[in-house]
Amino acid sequence: VAKQAGRNRFSFFTVEMRESAWVRLQMIDELRHALARQQLDVFYQPIVDLDTGVIVKAEALVRWHHPRHGLVLPEEFIGLAEETGLIDDIGAWVLAQAAACARAWSALAGAPFQISVNKSPAEFTGRAMIQSWDNDLALFERAGKQIAVEITEGLLLNDTPGVQARLGQLAQTGVQFSIDDFGIGYSSMAYLKKFKVDFLKIDQSFVKDIATNLNSSVFAETIVLMAHKLGLKVIAEGIETAEQRDVLKTMGCDYAQGFLFSKPVSSASFERLLAGNGNRAPE
Ligand code: C2E
Ligand code: MG
Ligand code: MG
Ligand code: MG
Repeated sequence: VAKQAGRNRFSFFTVEMRESAWVRLQMIDELRHALARQQLDVFYQPIVDLDTGVIVKAEALVRWHHPRHGLVLPEEFIGLAEETGLIDDIGAWVLAQAAACARAWSALAGAPFQISVNKSPAEFTGRAMIQSWDNDLALFERAGKQIAVEITEGLLLNDTPGVQARLGQLAQTGVQFSIDDFGIGYSSMAYLKKFKVDFLKIDQSFVKDIATNLNSSVFAETIVLMAHKLGLKVIAEGIETAEQRDVLKTMGCDYAQGFLFSKPVSSASFERLLAGNGNRAPE
């Protein structure tokens, strides 16, 4: 909820339209065909090393090129995809795209280049086809550390056996884990003792007023301290100003992602960013 309130995005579906059953059905039908019609796309947003400003990772973010509505953002369709189970196929496809890019860009950079993918709780609880989970596992296994999976605190706190079993299987593939939107959901962090994660992503709602709100800056600084003591790296999300970047850098935050560096871009544009990234490969 905090996450949604923090976003002020243009949305082509007005409230009345959203509530219209007919529009909903039509959209589900269109989404069902979007993959086959090659309307889905994956954009990539750079994650930079705060010390050097160099791009060291990326996050894969799905997009829908809708024939009438133009570029549609995930908040308009991920919910529907989750409710209908279409998220399984969409997620598998995004993962395959991201894994291919991670391989290509690692070769380009001459060093391992990691891409993170988002996985909804629905992808751990649902799954009409058991086969689709196995396919994901095979892809994750092949990618290893070239892929990080972004999951939310809520998923780790879900102790139904099915969810915990899938998390265990996923961990065995060798991928890394990030906790997305860290800080907005729960006050308990006990799950960090049970499940090994690699990165915490500080939610953008804290980054937004980090330079002006003492609570936000204390909170962010505490996350960084705790994470480092636990051996985790911290990624700050939603950095839009140089001031926010500087505050986080002073706190010792490791990585940063936000419009200050780049918006999410197509894979072709991302390759151009990487080409101008200077030399991450050590000589
Ligand atoms: P997220 O994983 O927290 O992704 C970060 C979101 O913040 C992205 O929105 C990104 O464009 C936006 N963002 C990045 N930097 C800034 C900034 O400086 N300022 C502001 N205001 N926003 C920034 P996007 O791409 O619209 O994605 C929204 C959410 O949709 C994601 O949040 C993620 O939860 C979900 N999502 C995206 N792709 C996938 C996917 O392939 N599968 C699943 N299951 N969920 C996805
Ligand atoms: Mg994410
Ligand atoms: Mg996030
Ligand atoms: Mg977020």
